[in-house]
Amino acid sequence: MQTKTYICQNCACQEFISRPSLYDIFEHQEGKLVFVKSEIMEEKIELFCRECSEKLDFDQTDLTF
Ligand SMILES: [Zn+2]
Repeated sequence: MQTKTYICQNCACQEFISRPSLYDIFEHQEGKLVFVKSEIMEEKIELFCRECSEKLDFDQTDLTF
C-alpha cells in the first residue's frame, strides 16, 4: 500500500486545522442570553492549512484521533 503524504501544496506546511463545526447556541430569555446547547453543524471534517488556509484534499479514512 502506498503511503500518502499530506503536505500543503501551497506552502509545504504539515499542520492542518479543522473548520469550527461545534457551535454553542444561546437563546434570549427575559433580558439574558441563556445557553441552550452545543450543536455540531457538519459531520464531515474539512482541513485547512494552518499557515495559508489552503484546503487539504484527504481521505476521511486517514483521520486518526
Ligand atoms: Zn499552506
